[in-house]
Amino acid sequence: VEEPIHEAVLGRAASRGDAPALIDGVNGMTLTYAQLDAFHRRIAAALAELGVRKGDVLALHSPNTVAFPTAFYAATRAGASVTTVHPLATPEEFAKQLRDCAAQWIVTVSPLLETARAAAELAGGIREILVCDQAPGHRSLLDMLGSTAPEPQIDIDPVTDVAALPYSSGTTGTPKGVMLTHRNIATNLAQLTPTMPMGPGDRILAVLPFFHIYGLTALMNAPLRQGATVVVLPRFDLDTFLAAIEKHRITGLYVAPPIVLALAKHPAVEGYDLSSLKYVISAAAPLDAELAEACSRRLGLPPVGQAYGMTELSPGTHVVPLDETDPPPGSVGKLIAGTEMRIVSLDDPGKDLGVGERGEIVIRGPQVMKGYLGRPVETAAMIDDDGWLSTGDVGHVDANGWLYVVDRVKELIKYKGFQVAPAELEALLLTHPGIADAAVIGVYDTDNNERPHAYVVRQPAPPDTTGTPLTETDVMEYVAERVAPYKKVRHVTFLDAVPRAASGKILRRELRAPREPGERA
Ligand code: ATP
Ligand code: MG
Repeated sequence: VEEPIHEAVLGRAASRGDAPALIDGVNGMTLTYAQLDAFHRRIAAALAELGVRKGDVLALHSPNTVAFPTAFYAATRAGASVTTVHPLATPEEFAKQLRDCAAQWIVTVSPLLETARAAAELAGGIREILVCDQAPGHRSLLDMLGSTAPEPQIDIDPVTDVAALPYSSGTTGTPKGVMLTHRNIATNLAQLTPTMPMGPGDRILAVLPFFHIYGLTALMNAPLRQGATVVVLPRFDLDTFLAAIEKHRITGLYVAPPIVLALAKHPAVEGYDLSSLKYVISAAAPLDAELAEACSRRLGLPPVGQAYGMTELSPGTHVVPLDETDPPPGSVGKLIAGTEMRIVSLDDPGKDLGVGERGEIVIRGPQVMKGYLGRPVETAAMIDDDGWLSTGDVGHVDANGWLYVVDRVKELIKYKGFQVAPAELEALLLTHPGIADAAVIGVYDTDNNERPHAYVVRQPAPPDTTGTPLTETDVMEYVAERVAPYKKVRHVTFLDAVPRAASGKILRRELRAPREPGERA
């Protein structure tokens, strides 16, 4: 697709008129398609008048709000590259990102202004901090709506110009700035939408963050391109989330496995009318087939579908198409159009593997990122001369082309020459009625062998029971009865909560090296 992302998404917005584009799930404030179209153009004009130039980096620092997409598309229309920032970032983390991508502009919201100011101070080089709402001493996007400046005519080259600079989740190390061109994102959107059709009448709940590439695509670009309504929530809280589904008659959910887990197991779900839901899709981390099945059974829905991708892939390569009535349990989907995949041997990356064989997933297609910003060595290690990107994920394909993701290469636990996938043990642990959540990592024992160590959150006991709490032995025996001996869990630690990133991923590095007080996940 050779058009800028704001054109690709909002090309038909004006003609949708008064249809609701975005609704604030808390206070009900609505933005129509006509407003979204007009507002982002006005703000783009005002940003250009302010001095935003093609290639400038603008940091968008906001939880999910009705204004977020307007700010995003206004910035890209003005020619800027948008780097999205975690709303819970500390000033130090935020400053690090600002310095890494040499940002000149910040758009934030008044409750986060102090953090943004401190970050700008630490980073240097920021020309102005603007706010989406209102704050004394700061230019507001709302005021910019009154701008009479001419709409900027920016010559965007979709193939080379960077539209977005999201940072990878940092699950395996330092988050890296991922350069996604207009073509990367717009093409991937065009590849994905046939598998996730939505229309006016569809109401999508945006509870996962827009700042992460999954939310940006599934909850913002895809529904707004197709004329659906996006109901936004600023953060995940189970009761608010369930109440929003009931109140706004939500039809589709794009979530991550922890939310599927809550929908499948949490008692609070019984208290709400969720009958408007037509489907639930999960992505971003491994989802166990039994858990998916428990969720769809409880809600009376078709099987929970999955999608697979990563920031570096704009983000999608595999989806279980919505119209697929009987997808094989556990699959993350089929390869989308215009994308190639190989499964290569973990020991010999030059060797292609066949049906059913586990190896690293390698991808080529128009959605492969331009590169990591300022990291040519890491980029070259990730993408070879022929354009194939090594995902770092282990998977296998069945005879019909369905992909199964096992886990990340780096997370596989090596025990005496065998490989154990933490995701498989986590899924098994979750089938125990006394376990609310679980994470597994490999720890080295004195004999220098890595062994599975389970971190387990106990399911709160119902008030009318006097059952004894789950013990380490219970957990170890439960697993031992169900897996080959080399996969047995050898250590158990009980926790109040499993540390997770905003996108729902388990932060295994935090289990290895617990967080300092005050440090953000
Ligand atoms: P970092 O690269 O900074 O360590 P990250 O890899 O978690 O962080 P993202 O780009 O947000 O950053 O996540 C992509 C990864 O998420 C994939 O490489 C894969 O491991 C995982 N993932 C995404 N979708 C699925 C899925 N459906 N099933 C299993 N894993 C998934
Ligand atoms: Mg990654």
